[in-house]
Amino acid sequence: MTQPLPMLPVAPTRPASTLPCALDYDEQALVATFAMLGHPAYRGRQVFRDLHQRHVASWEGCTNLPRELRAQLAERYRILPGELVGQAISQDGTRKRLVRLADGQDIETVAIPAISPAGAHRLSVCVSTQAGCAMACTFCATGRMGLARGLTPGEIVDQVYGFERDAPSERPTHVVFMGMGEPLHNYAATVAAVRLLSHANGVNLSQRRITVSTSGLVPQIEQLAGEGLEITLAISLHAPDDTLRASLMPINRRYPLAELIAAAAAYAHKTGRRVSYEYVLLRDVNDALHHADRLATILPPKLSHVNLIPYNATDASYRPTPPNAARAFRDRLLGAGVSTTIRASRGRDIAAACGQLKAENRRQGTRSPG
Ligand code: SAH
Ligand code: SF4
Repeated sequence: MTQPLPMLPVAPTRPASTLPCALDYDEQALVATFAMLGHPAYRGRQVFRDLHQRHVASWEGCTNLPRELRAQLAERYRILPGELVGQAISQDGTRKRLVRLADGQDIETVAIPAISPAGAHRLSVCVSTQAGCAMACTFCATGRMGLARGLTPGEIVDQVYGFERDAPSERPTHVVFMGMGEPLHNYAATVAAVRLLSHANGVNLSQRRITVSTSGLVPQIEQLAGEGLEITLAISLHAPDDTLRASLMPINRRYPLAELIAAAAAYAHKTGRRVSYEYVLLRDVNDALHHADRLATILPPKLSHVNLIPYNATDASYRPTPPNAARAFRDRLLGAGVSTTIRASRGRDIAAACGQLKAENRRQGTRSPG
Protein backbone atom coordinates (compact mmCIF):
# COMPACT_ATOMS: atom_id res chain seq x y z
CA MET A 1 0.00 0.00 0.00
CA THR A 2 1.20 3.54 -0.78
CA GLN A 3 2.58 5.55 2.12
CA PRO A 4 -0.12 8.03 3.27
CA LEU A 5 0.54 11.70 2.50
CA PRO A 6 0.95 13.85 5.62
CA MET A 7 -2.17 15.71 6.68
CA LEU A 8 -1.97 19.47 6.32
CA PRO A 9 -2.59 20.93 9.77
CA VAL A 10 -5.20 23.65 9.93
CA ALA A 11 -4.90 26.19 12.75
CA PRO A 12 -7.97 26.15 15.02
CA THR A 13 -9.85 29.38 14.52
CA ARG A 14 -11.85 29.77 17.70
CA PRO A 15 -12.69 27.94 20.89
CA ALA A 16 -15.31 25.22 20.70
CA SER A 17 -18.72 26.48 21.71
CA THR A 18 -21.22 24.43 23.66
CA LEU A 19 -24.30 26.32 22.44
CA PRO A 20 -26.90 24.15 20.67
CA CYS A 21 -26.07 23.66 17.00
CA ALA A 22 -28.62 25.22 14.62
CA LEU A 23 -27.90 22.56 11.96
CA ASP A 24 -29.51 19.93 14.18
CA TYR A 25 -33.01 21.40 13.63
CA ASP A 26 -35.29 20.59 10.73
CA GLU A 27 -37.27 23.35 9.03
CA GLN A 28 -40.36 22.88 11.19
CA ALA A 29 -38.30 23.11 14.38
CA LEU A 30 -36.63 26.31 13.16
CA VAL A 31 -40.01 27.85 12.34
CA ALA A 32 -41.25 26.88 15.82
CA THR A 33 -38.13 28.31 17.45
CA PHE A 34 -38.57 31.58 15.59
CA ALA A 35 -42.23 31.72 16.58
CA MET A 36 -41.12 31.39 20.20
CA LEU A 37 -38.75 34.33 19.74
CA GLY A 38 -41.66 36.32 18.27
CA HIS A 39 -40.71 36.15 14.57
CA PRO A 40 -42.85 35.18 11.56
CA ALA A 41 -42.56 31.67 10.05
CA TYR A 42 -40.82 32.91 6.91
CA ARG A 43 -37.80 33.85 9.05
CA GLY A 44 -37.37 30.22 10.06
CA ARG A 45 -37.53 29.12 6.42
CA GLN A 46 -35.03 31.82 5.46
CA VAL A 47 -32.59 30.64 8.10
CA PHE A 48 -33.07 27.00 7.04
CA ARG A 49 -32.03 28.00 3.50
CA ASP A 50 -29.06 30.00 4.79
CA LEU A 51 -27.89 27.00 6.79
CA HIS A 52 -28.65 24.10 4.47
CA GLN A 53 -28.47 25.67 1.00
CA ARG A 54 -26.03 28.57 1.33
CA HIS A 55 -23.94 26.91 4.08
CA VAL A 56 -23.26 30.12 5.98
CA ALA A 57 -20.50 29.59 8.53
CA SER A 58 -21.61 32.35 10.92
CA TRP A 59 -24.78 34.30 11.71
CA GLU A 60 -23.13 37.36 10.16
CA GLY A 61 -23.51 35.51 6.84
CA CYS A 62 -27.33 35.64 7.12
CA THR A 63 -27.41 39.03 5.44
CA ASN A 64 -31.18 38.96 4.89
CA LEU A 65 -31.81 38.98 8.66
CA PRO A 66 -32.02 42.18 10.70
CA ARG A 67 -28.80 42.86 12.60
CA GLU A 68 -30.46 42.49 16.04
CA LEU A 69 -31.85 39.10 15.10
CA ARG A 70 -28.40 37.91 14.00
CA ALA A 71 -27.00 39.02 17.35
CA GLN A 72 -29.85 37.30 19.18
CA LEU A 73 -29.19 34.06 17.29
CA ALA A 74 -25.45 34.23 17.88
CA GLU A 75 -26.08 34.31 21.61
CA ARG A 76 -28.26 31.22 21.51
CA TYR A 77 -27.00 28.96 18.73
CA ARG A 78 -23.82 28.03 16.98
CA ILE A 79 -23.74 26.98 13.34
CA LEU A 80 -20.61 24.94 12.78
CA PRO A 81 -20.54 21.69 14.77
CA GLY A 82 -16.75 21.66 14.88
CA GLU A 83 -13.51 22.96 13.47
CA LEU A 84 -11.49 21.76 10.54
CA VAL A 85 -8.21 20.49 12.01
CA GLY A 86 -6.75 18.67 9.01
CA GLN A 87 -7.24 18.09 5.32
CA ALA A 88 -5.57 16.09 2.60
CA ILE A 89 -5.97 15.62 -1.14
CA SER A 90 -5.00 12.44 -2.90
CA GLN A 91 -3.24 12.12 -6.27
CA ASP A 92 -6.52 10.79 -7.71
CA GLY A 93 -8.48 13.84 -6.47
CA THR A 94 -10.00 12.20 -3.39
CA ARG A 95 -10.26 14.77 -0.61
CA LYS A 96 -10.38 14.18 3.10
CA ARG A 97 -11.36 16.49 5.96
CA LEU A 98 -10.77 15.95 9.66
CA VAL A 99 -13.09 17.91 11.94
CA ARG A 100 -12.79 18.26 15.72
CA LEU A 101 -16.26 18.46 17.25
CA ALA A 102 -17.12 20.74 20.17
CA ASP A 103 -16.47 17.95 22.70
CA GLY A 104 -13.08 17.08 21.19
CA GLN A 105 -14.14 14.05 19.13
CA ASP A 106 -12.42 13.85 15.75
CA ILE A 107 -14.39 12.69 12.72
CA GLU A 108 -13.23 12.12 9.19
CA THR A 109 -15.04 12.54 5.88
CA VAL A 110 -13.86 11.79 2.36
CA ALA A 111 -15.09 13.12 -1.01
CA ILE A 112 -14.40 10.85 -3.95
CA PRO A 113 -14.63 12.16 -7.52
CA ALA A 114 -15.64 9.71 -10.25
CA ILE A 115 -17.11 9.51 -13.72
CA SER A 116 -20.45 7.69 -13.98
CA PRO A 117 -21.00 4.93 -16.58
CA ALA A 118 -22.89 7.55 -18.63
CA GLY A 119 -19.88 9.90 -18.50
CA ALA A 120 -21.24 12.36 -15.92
CA HIS A 121 -19.05 13.92 -13.24
CA ARG A 122 -19.75 12.58 -9.76
CA LEU A 123 -18.58 13.61 -6.33
CA SER A 124 -19.50 11.11 -3.60
CA VAL A 125 -19.10 12.18 0.00
CA CYS A 126 -18.59 9.36 2.48
CA VAL A 127 -19.93 10.55 5.85
CA SER A 128 -19.33 9.26 9.36
CA THR A 129 -22.32 8.72 11.64
CA GLN A 130 -20.54 7.96 14.92
CA ALA A 131 -17.26 8.76 16.63
CA GLY A 132 -15.89 5.22 16.71
CA CYS A 133 -18.16 2.17 16.44
CA ALA A 134 -19.48 -0.46 18.83
CA MET A 135 -19.69 -3.28 16.25
CA ALA A 136 -16.03 -4.36 16.57
CA CYS A 137 -15.60 -5.90 13.11
CA THR A 138 -12.15 -7.46 13.22
CA PHE A 139 -10.85 -6.02 9.91
CA CYS A 140 -12.00 -2.42 10.54
CA ALA A 141 -9.89 0.38 12.05
CA THR A 142 -13.00 2.12 13.43
CA GLY A 143 -14.13 -1.15 15.01
CA ARG A 144 -10.94 -1.28 17.05
CA MET A 145 -11.64 2.15 18.60
CA GLY A 146 -14.90 1.26 20.33
CA LEU A 147 -17.81 3.69 20.38
CA ALA A 148 -17.39 7.20 21.77
CA ARG A 149 -20.84 8.50 20.74
CA GLY A 150 -23.31 8.90 17.91
CA LEU A 151 -23.16 12.09 15.86
CA THR A 152 -26.06 14.55 15.72
CA PRO A 153 -27.93 15.23 12.42
CA GLY A 154 -26.06 18.56 12.09
CA GLU A 155 -22.70 16.88 12.66
CA ILE A 156 -23.54 14.42 9.88
CA VAL A 157 -24.85 16.86 7.23
CA ASP A 158 -22.13 19.44 7.85
CA GLN A 159 -19.58 16.88 6.67
CA VAL A 160 -21.17 17.31 3.22
CA TYR A 161 -21.50 21.09 3.54
CA GLY A 162 -17.82 21.38 4.53
CA PHE A 163 -16.74 20.26 1.05
CA GLU A 164 -19.22 22.73 -0.51
CA ARG A 165 -17.74 25.57 1.55
CA ASP A 166 -14.17 24.60 0.57
CA ALA A 167 -14.95 24.39 -3.15
CA PRO A 168 -18.39 25.76 -4.09
CA SER A 169 -17.87 24.82 -7.74
CA GLU A 170 -17.50 21.11 -6.86
CA ARG A 171 -20.87 20.18 -5.44
CA PRO A 172 -21.32 16.70 -3.99
CA THR A 173 -23.67 14.64 -6.18
CA HIS A 174 -23.92 11.54 -3.98
CA VAL A 175 -23.71 10.80 -0.25
CA VAL A 176 -22.77 7.39 1.14
CA PHE A 177 -23.09 6.63 4.86
CA MET A 178 -19.94 4.52 4.88
CA GLY A 179 -17.50 6.48 7.01
CA MET A 180 -16.88 5.82 10.67
CA GLY A 181 -19.65 4.24 12.69
CA GLU A 182 -22.77 2.14 12.24
CA PRO A 183 -25.56 4.37 10.85
CA LEU A 184 -28.40 2.17 12.12
CA HIS A 185 -26.90 2.19 15.62
CA ASN A 186 -27.53 5.95 15.45
CA TYR A 187 -30.89 5.51 13.77
CA ALA A 188 -32.78 8.74 14.49
CA ALA A 189 -29.85 11.01 13.59
CA THR A 190 -29.16 9.04 10.41
CA VAL A 191 -32.77 9.29 9.21
CA ALA A 192 -32.90 12.99 10.19
CA ALA A 193 -29.67 13.60 8.22
CA VAL A 194 -31.13 11.85 5.14
CA ARG A 195 -34.21 14.08 5.34
CA LEU A 196 -32.09 17.24 5.74
CA LEU A 197 -29.87 16.35 2.77
CA SER A 198 -32.88 15.66 0.56
CA HIS A 199 -34.92 18.69 1.71
CA ALA A 200 -36.09 20.88 -1.19
CA ASN A 201 -34.89 24.05 0.62
CA GLY A 202 -31.51 22.50 1.41
CA VAL A 203 -28.99 20.82 -0.91
CA ASN A 204 -32.01 18.99 -2.35
CA LEU A 205 -30.09 15.79 -3.02
CA SER A 206 -32.24 13.07 -4.55
CA GLN A 207 -32.68 10.23 -2.06
CA ARG A 208 -31.75 7.90 -4.90
CA ARG A 209 -28.26 9.34 -4.63
CA ILE A 210 -27.96 8.47 -0.94
CA THR A 211 -26.71 5.09 0.29
CA VAL A 212 -26.84 3.92 3.90
CA SER A 213 -24.54 1.01 4.72
CA THR A 214 -25.12 -1.29 7.68
CA SER A 215 -23.37 -4.20 9.31
CA GLY A 216 -26.82 -5.76 9.69
CA LEU A 217 -29.03 -4.48 12.53
CA VAL A 218 -32.18 -6.38 11.61
CA PRO A 219 -34.84 -4.50 13.66
CA GLN A 220 -33.56 -1.16 12.35
CA ILE A 221 -33.56 -2.43 8.75
CA GLU A 222 -37.22 -3.35 9.25
CA GLN A 223 -37.94 0.08 10.70
CA LEU A 224 -36.08 1.81 7.86
CA ALA A 225 -38.24 0.00 5.31
CA GLY A 226 -41.24 1.88 6.72
CA GLU A 227 -39.76 5.39 6.57
CA GLY A 228 -40.91 6.05 3.02
CA LEU A 229 -37.37 6.88 1.87
CA GLU A 230 -35.98 6.14 -1.59
CA ILE A 231 -32.40 5.61 -0.46
CA THR A 232 -30.23 2.62 -1.33
CA LEU A 233 -29.57 0.21 1.49
CA ALA A 234 -26.16 -1.47 1.50
CA ILE A 235 -25.60 -4.54 3.65
CA SER A 236 -22.05 -5.36 4.73
CA LEU A 237 -21.98 -9.12 4.26
CA HIS A 238 -18.29 -10.09 3.91
CA ALA A 239 -18.94 -13.82 4.35
CA PRO A 240 -21.41 -16.38 2.96
CA ASP A 241 -21.83 -18.49 6.12
CA ASP A 242 -22.51 -17.80 9.79
CA THR A 243 -19.29 -19.26 11.20
CA LEU A 244 -17.01 -17.16 9.03
CA ARG A 245 -19.20 -14.06 9.29
CA ALA A 246 -19.38 -14.25 13.08
CA SER A 247 -15.58 -14.49 13.24
CA LEU A 248 -15.30 -11.22 11.24
CA MET A 249 -18.42 -9.43 12.47
CA PRO A 250 -19.58 -10.08 16.07
CA ILE A 251 -23.03 -8.63 15.20
CA ASN A 252 -23.68 -11.86 13.26
CA ARG A 253 -24.12 -13.68 16.59
CA ARG A 254 -27.11 -11.46 17.32
CA TYR A 255 -28.55 -11.36 13.79
CA PRO A 256 -27.43 -14.37 11.76
CA LEU A 257 -27.31 -14.41 7.97
CA ALA A 258 -30.71 -15.97 7.30
CA GLU A 259 -32.48 -13.27 9.34
CA LEU A 260 -30.38 -10.52 7.79
CA ILE A 261 -30.97 -11.63 4.20
CA ALA A 262 -34.70 -12.01 4.91
CA ALA A 263 -34.83 -8.45 6.30
CA ALA A 264 -32.89 -7.12 3.30
CA ALA A 265 -35.16 -8.97 0.86
CA ALA A 266 -38.23 -7.59 2.65
CA TYR A 267 -36.68 -4.10 2.42
CA ALA A 268 -36.19 -4.50 -1.33
CA HIS A 269 -39.70 -5.84 -1.76
CA LYS A 270 -41.33 -3.07 0.27
CA THR A 271 -39.35 -0.16 -1.22
CA GLY A 272 -38.78 -1.51 -4.74
CA ARG A 273 -35.13 -0.50 -4.32
CA ARG A 274 -32.33 -2.91 -5.14
CA VAL A 275 -30.21 -3.77 -2.06
CA SER A 276 -26.42 -3.64 -2.35
CA TYR A 277 -24.31 -6.26 -0.62
CA GLU A 278 -20.80 -5.16 0.34
CA TYR A 279 -18.10 -7.82 0.41
CA VAL A 280 -14.57 -6.85 1.48
CA LEU A 281 -12.17 -9.32 -0.10
CA LEU A 282 -9.70 -10.62 2.51
CA ARG A 283 -6.95 -12.81 1.14
CA ASP A 284 -7.22 -16.48 2.14
CA VAL A 285 -10.11 -15.64 4.49
CA ASN A 286 -13.28 -15.12 2.40
CA ASP A 287 -12.01 -14.93 -1.20
CA ALA A 288 -12.03 -18.54 -2.42
CA LEU A 289 -14.27 -19.51 -5.33
CA HIS A 290 -16.31 -21.77 -3.06
CA HIS A 291 -17.17 -18.63 -1.05
CA ALA A 292 -18.47 -17.02 -4.24
CA ASP A 293 -20.52 -20.14 -5.03
CA ARG A 294 -22.07 -20.15 -1.57
CA LEU A 295 -22.72 -16.40 -1.72
CA ALA A 296 -24.63 -16.84 -4.98
CA THR A 297 -26.90 -19.37 -3.30
CA ILE A 298 -27.81 -17.25 -0.25
CA LEU A 299 -28.61 -13.93 -1.98
CA PRO A 300 -32.16 -13.22 -3.09
CA PRO A 301 -32.06 -13.71 -6.87
CA LYS A 302 -33.83 -10.43 -7.65
CA LEU A 303 -33.18 -6.86 -6.50
CA SER A 304 -29.64 -7.50 -5.25
CA HIS A 305 -26.21 -6.32 -6.30
CA VAL A 306 -22.80 -7.29 -4.93
CA ASN A 307 -20.02 -4.72 -4.49
CA LEU A 308 -16.63 -6.34 -4.02
CA ILE A 309 -14.41 -4.00 -1.98
CA PRO A 310 -10.62 -4.22 -2.11
CA TYR A 311 -9.38 -4.43 1.48
CA ASN A 312 -7.54 -1.31 2.60
CA ALA A 313 -4.84 -2.81 4.78
CA THR A 314 -5.29 -1.23 8.21
CA ASP A 315 -4.14 -4.20 10.21
CA ALA A 316 -1.36 -6.73 9.73
CA SER A 317 -3.80 -9.61 10.44
CA TYR A 318 -5.41 -9.30 6.99
CA ARG A 319 -4.13 -8.86 3.46
CA PRO A 320 -5.96 -7.70 0.35
CA THR A 321 -6.95 -10.21 -2.33
CA PRO A 322 -4.77 -9.82 -5.46
CA PRO A 323 -6.65 -8.13 -8.36
CA ASN A 324 -6.69 -11.24 -10.59
CA ALA A 325 -8.23 -13.32 -7.79
CA ALA A 326 -10.78 -10.53 -7.18
CA ARG A 327 -11.74 -10.63 -10.87
CA ALA A 328 -12.08 -14.44 -10.74
CA PHE A 329 -14.38 -14.06 -7.70
CA ARG A 330 -16.47 -11.47 -9.56
CA ASP A 331 -16.68 -13.63 -12.68
CA ARG A 332 -17.81 -16.58 -10.61
CA LEU A 333 -20.68 -14.52 -9.19
CA LEU A 334 -21.57 -13.11 -12.61
CA GLY A 335 -21.56 -16.66 -13.97
CA ALA A 336 -24.09 -17.59 -11.30
CA GLY A 337 -26.31 -14.70 -12.44
CA VAL A 338 -25.45 -12.28 -9.59
CA SER A 339 -25.01 -8.64 -10.59
CA THR A 340 -21.48 -7.80 -9.30
CA THR A 341 -18.92 -5.02 -9.53
CA ILE A 342 -15.46 -4.50 -8.03
CA ARG A 343 -15.31 -1.12 -6.34
CA ALA A 344 -12.48 1.07 -7.53
CA SER A 345 -10.08 1.70 -4.71
CA ARG A 346 -9.60 5.46 -4.33
CA GLY A 347 -7.61 7.78 -2.14
CA ARG A 348 -5.23 5.12 -0.84
CA ASP A 349 -2.39 7.59 -0.57
CA ILE A 350 -4.37 9.57 1.99
CA ALA A 351 -5.66 6.43 3.73
CA ALA A 352 -9.22 7.34 2.78
CA ALA A 353 -11.04 4.29 4.10
CA CYS A 354 -13.42 3.59 6.94
CA GLY A 355 -11.92 4.94 10.15
CA GLN A 356 -8.33 5.09 9.01
CA LEU A 357 -7.65 8.78 9.39
CA LYS A 358 -8.26 8.96 13.10
CA ALA A 359 -6.35 5.74 13.74
CA GLU A 360 -3.38 7.20 11.92
CA ASN A 361 -3.40 10.45 13.86
CA ARG A 362 -3.35 8.47 17.05
CA ARG A 363 -0.42 6.35 15.91
CA GLN A 364 1.57 9.44 15.04
CA GLY A 365 0.73 10.90 18.43
CA THR A 366 -0.54 14.19 17.01
CA ARG A 367 -3.63 14.03 19.18
CA SER A 368 -3.85 13.65 22.90
CA PRO A 369 -6.06 10.76 23.99
CA GLY A 370 -9.64 11.39 25.09
N1 SAH B 1 -20.79 0.49 9.73
C1 SAH B 1 -21.33 0.43 8.42
C2 SAH B 1 -20.88 1.58 7.55
C3 SAH B 1 -19.47 2.04 7.69
S1 SAH B 1 -18.23 0.90 7.14
C4 SAH B 1 -20.99 -0.89 7.78
O1 SAH B 1 -20.19 -1.64 8.35
O2 SAH B 1 -21.55 -1.19 6.74
C5 SAH B 1 -18.42 1.01 5.36
C6 SAH B 1 -17.85 -0.19 4.62
O3 SAH B 1 -16.41 -0.20 4.71
C7 SAH B 1 -18.31 -1.51 5.21
O4 SAH B 1 -18.73 -2.39 4.18
C8 SAH B 1 -17.06 -2.01 5.89
O5 SAH B 1 -17.07 -3.38 6.04
C9 SAH B 1 -15.98 -1.51 4.97
N2 SAH B 1 -14.64 -1.51 5.55
C10 SAH B 1 -14.26 -1.37 6.82
N3 SAH B 1 -12.93 -1.40 6.95
C11 SAH B 1 -12.43 -1.56 5.71
C12 SAH B 1 -11.12 -1.67 5.18
N4 SAH B 1 -10.06 -1.60 5.95
N5 SAH B 1 -10.98 -1.83 3.84
C13 SAH B 1 -12.07 -1.87 3.03
N6 SAH B 1 -13.33 -1.76 3.48
C14 SAH B 1 -13.51 -1.62 4.80
FE1 SF4 C 1 -18.40 -0.48 12.58
FE2 SF4 C 1 -18.81 -0.75 9.94
FE3 SF4 C 1 -16.32 -0.79 10.98
FE4 SF4 C 1 -17.95 -2.84 11.43
S1 SF4 C 1 -17.15 -2.17 9.44
S2 SF4 C 1 -16.68 -1.83 12.96
S3 SF4 C 1 -19.89 -1.80 11.62
S4 SF4 C 1 -17.73 0.93 10.98
